[in-house]
Amino acid sequence: MLIGLTGTPGTGKTSVSKLLEKRRQWKAIYLNDLIKEEHLYTDVDEKRDSVVADMELIRSRLPELTDEMEKKSANKVIILESHLAHYITDIAIVLRAYPPELKTRLEKRGYSEEKINENAEAESIDLILAEAFEWCDKIFEVNTTGRTVEETAGDVEKIIDSLLSGKEEELQEYIPGSLDWIDSVP
Ligand code: ADP
Ligand code: MN
Repeated sequence: MLIGLTGTPGTGKTSVSKLLEKRRQWKAIYLNDLIKEEHLYTDVDEKRDSVVADMELIRSRLPELTDEMEKKSANKVIILESHLAHYITDIAIVLRAYPPELKTRLEKRGYSEEKINENAEAESIDLILAEAFEWCDKIFEVNTTGRTVEETAGDVEKIIDSLLSGKEEELQEYIPGSLDWIDSVP
């Protein structure tokens, strides 16, 4: 099962994926690294120090990669970690963080003020969640605000385990719609 773990930068995708790989026999694909390693981009954006992902190339490369991974080991779960994951996977788990807390996390990471504000704003208008609704069949939302990486990983773990066992009725608390942060960014 391929599960997208998406969210605004700083919501915790990488930390949670690393922890789950340690805790469980699950694998994660760090899509942003893969895009750079395998040149799965159309353009280099010098000003933003980033690349423009080539979604077509990514969509054709990923099934090869996940097939290889599934053949190699008995991993039942592959987590696709990226703020672009919801463009690829049918199931998306969207990590959320209250924008002022997100800002603090991104400050610690040394992001520029411009980049911090851009991301806080995207989070406050539920941008990635809205995109996920456009592209995915199943969407779950995890609030990371005021919680630890371990607790957040526990939430993601619960969602995946319930999906694996077909007990989706246990996942009511992760149905999107309860967060409203539109007023949190001036
Ligand atoms: P992303 O991959 O989404 O950009 P990272 O995992 O790289 O996010 O960074 C998230 C940062 O926020 C880390 O420094 C992590 O320790 C911190 N953090 C604080 N609280 C949480 C939480 N509840 N869940 C995930 N990360 C958290
Ligand atoms: Mn990351």
